[in-house]
This record gives sequence, C-alpha cells and structure tokens, in this order.
Amino acid sequence: MNSTTRLSPQVIPRSEHSISRAAISPNALKVLYRLKEAGYQGFLVGGAVRDLLLGLQPKDFDVATNALPDEVRRLFRNCRLIGRRFRLAHVFFGGEIIEVATFRAAAAPEREDIEDPDVDAEAPEDAPLESIRPEFSPPSDSEHRAFDLRGRILRDNIYGTIEEDVWRRDFAANGLYYNIEDFSIWDFVDGMSDIKARRLKLIGDPETRFREDPVRMLRAVRFAAKLDFSIEPDTERPLQQLAYLLDGVPPARLFDEVLKLFLSGFGAKSYRLLQQYCLFEHLFPQSAAAFVLPPYAYAAQMLELGLANTDARIAADKPVTPTFLFAVLLWSAVLRELNERQAGPSPDLALLLQACDTVLRTQQSRVAIPRRFAIPMRELLMLQPRFTRRSGVKSLSLLQHPRFRAAYDFLLLRAQVGVADPELAKWWTDIQVLPQEERVALVQARPPEPVAEGAPAPGRRRRRRRRGGAARS
Ligand code: ATP
Ligand code: MG
Repeated sequence: MNSTTRLSPQVIPRSEHSISRAAISPNALKVLYRLKEAGYQGFLVGGAVRDLLLGLQPKDFDVATNALPDEVRRLFRNCRLIGRRFRLAHVFFGGEIIEVATFRAAAAPEREDIEDPDVDAEAPEDAPLESIRPEFSPPSDSEHRAFDLRGRILRDNIYGTIEEDVWRRDFAANGLYYNIEDFSIWDFVDGMSDIKARRLKLIGDPETRFREDPVRMLRAVRFAAKLDFSIEPDTERPLQQLAYLLDGVPPARLFDEVLKLFLSGFGAKSYRLLQQYCLFEHLFPQSAAAFVLPPYAYAAQMLELGLANTDARIAADKPVTPTFLFAVLLWSAVLRELNERQAGPSPDLALLLQACDTVLRTQQSRVAIPRRFAIPMRELLMLQPRFTRRSGVKSLSLLQHPRFRAAYDFLLLRAQVGVADPELAKWWTDIQVLPQEERVALVQARPPEPVAEGAPAPGRRRRRRRRGGAARS
C-alpha cells in the first residue's frame, strides 16, 4: 500500500460528481435497489463508474455487495452462480447480465482462478447458457471458510469487506464505488484524481500487482488505448521487463483478452502499445518474429491497416469477426512457414494447408483460438491463391464460397500494401456487381492460366472429407 491509500474512503456526495441515475442501466439500478431494500450494501463498481464519470457509455454494469452469493441468489429469481472458488452471481434481464460480486477478501484467489473452468471454449457464442455451462453443483459458502481444530469458523477467507475489496482491484481509476444508499462515490485510492488526470495507476506496488496477475499488463494497454489515458510512470516502468510473465497465463484467458484488445474499437492503438511494451511478442511470437524479417515486414503494415479498418467498422456499428483478425495476425507466420517448405514461386495448396496448421498449432499454446474461428481462418487463407484464377466458368464458384467476402477483404488488404496486384483486386471488385451472363462472358474471354501446383486438376476433383465437425461461423 502506498501513501495515496486510506482505510476510510473519501466520500464524494451526489452534488459533487456527475453520475446521474438516468445514465445507469435500469436493470443495474433494479439490482442495486433490491440489495438495498434487503438490508445489504450495493455499489456500482469498476469500469461502469469510471466510464460514467468520463461521459462514456459503459460496456457493462458490475455490482459489488456485502451479500454472500447464496444470499444474492435468494434475492433474484433470474440469477445463477458461476465460478468455483470465488463465486459470482449473474442476474439475467433478457440480453443484459448484471454481474454481482460479493466483496472479495484479501486472501481470496486471484482473478484467473475465478474463471469458470466449466466454460467450454468451443461452444458457439450464441448458444444458450445452459449448453455452455455443463451442470455442476457449486460448493456451499461454508466450504470456503477456515475452521480451527475444533471446527470453529475462524474466518471466511474468500469474501470480505469493501475495505478489503478495493485492494484487489487493478487501477485506481477502476477502484471507485458508487453507493446506491445515497448516490455518493466512495474513493479509497484517489481514483477521482486519476480520472481527472486521465491516468492509469495500479493500486499498490506495480511489480507485485503485475506478478499476481500478468493480464493486468494487457488491461493497462487496453484501457490506455480505449480511454486515451496515460500509464503513470511507476506502473509503466516494469511493463517491458515483466512482459515474459504472459507466457504463464492460460491460453484461453489470453484469447479473451486478445479479442478485447483488438475488437473493442481501439485495436490499432492497442497494437502500437503492445509493441511498445514488448507484450505483442508474447502473444503472437511467430508473427512478431516474421514482422522483423524484411520479406514479411509488409505484414505488420497489413495488420495495422486491418486493425484501423476494424476500428472504423466498430465505430460505424458494423459487425467484425475474430476470423479475419486472426488471419491478418498470422499471415506472415504462415507465409514464412510456407516458404520454408516450398521452392517454387507459385503457391502449393497442400503445403499452404500444412503451413496454416503448423502455425495454428504453435499459436494455440499462447493464445487459444477456438476451432470455430481457426477453421474459417484457414479457409480464408487457403482461398488467397484462388483469386489469381480468373479464366473458365469454374473460377466463378469462388464468388459462392461462404468465405468469399472475408477472403476478398483480405485480398484488398494485400493489394493495399502492394503484395497483391491492384488490377486483380479491382477485377474481383468489379465482377461482384455484374449480372451472371456478363460474369460468364468475362471469364470465358480470358486465356487459361496455369493451374497452381497442388491444386486438384480440373475434372478430377477429389472429394475431401471435411476435417473435424467444427461449427461454421
Ligand atoms: P470494461 O468492462 O470497460 O472492459 P472494466 O474496468 O469494467 O472495463 P472488467 O473486466 O469488467 O473491466 O472488470 C470490472 C472491474 O473488476 C475492473 O474495473 C477492476 O476494478 C476489477 N478487475 C477486473 N479484472 C481485474 C484484474 N485482473 N485485476 C484486478 N482487478 C480487476
Ligand atoms: Mg466492466
């Protein structure tokens, strides 16, 4: 604990802060009021308080309370408990989930331990919760209590008070509590000053806090990018030196963080910061290694352009997909792998497939990419050589391929950085808007091209068994 920490909060009354209930999700308010009416403390916490003070629309609303998980469950019918050691309540309102966490004690497990191990990373995103979380019987609260030799409860070492809870939070700017009792804000860590100064400062000793949970390094980058905050010097200093600690974080958790970093609207800036603090090479070691080799340096530029496009799509409320992102992220590594296997200039599809699989396999040990994204990503990359084939009616089948659109966007990106022929990109752009007869006339007028090595010869198409039974996205 440092000099800015105190045991009693600075209480900022409603008249002295800008958070209005009108900006809070009505469902979060319902949860807070219900807790209060039942005699418990109820606070809005974390990113929601921070974002509201900054005038931003919070992504989600998290609640902290002194009610134990079982007590929360009794208050809400539409509620389920998740997590094994540290249990959280999810209160469901149609599509919105309000997460209600009991104040965490100093001895409670670190964040990575609270991830629900029962969540199946392979389940489709839109699957009903029941199918994502197999049934299990959560342990009762008493299992988390410490007993003495006579069986007497010494202390409940998982759940604690708000004074304990605050030290478990990451940045002071994320450590503010909005009290439903009187709409005041409780500030134990001078978080208000950090919000005003647009600054990210870890609560406590930075190196210790990063070692406790290395994902906090990625969170620092993500919030700095998203909020346009600076990282305070003491928090910033150990980043580069501790970057290697990411190697010990479970790959499934890193997958979640990577999506948040790159698909939340501030991907281009997040990427620059990840590179600045040498964090990127611990997430995508193969790509980072390829980016610094002259033949693949353009791939880093492709990634920056791809991330900027993604950011623009998110700003325009258009959908984005992890499939495309991972294709851009891993392309350089795939090409490098391919070039080590093949001698000739024209791509051998069988070798390209092998290169994709080798890169993906290695990547999975760092950032686990679920099959539902990895398989379409591989398809997207495998379609790239097919764009060069433009003669004969068969070449038109590419337009019908379920991955055509993403593969075409990828081609545009390659053309933008000068590795695909801009004429080729334009041809595929133009043909999409032509009626079928004109498309046919166009491809029939072109002289036949040599078939790419490794591609099945025309007329001798082998039926290949689809690998795996992965869900297609
Ligand atoms: P956003 O939801 O905008 O991404 P957030 O700050 O709400 O940002 P969450 O991941 O929703 O982030 O977490 C809610 C709060 O829980 C955080 O504000 C922080 O106080 C605390 N928290 C989350 N993850 C960690 C962590 N790894 N270490 C310490 N505290 C954390
Ligand atoms: Mg949040």
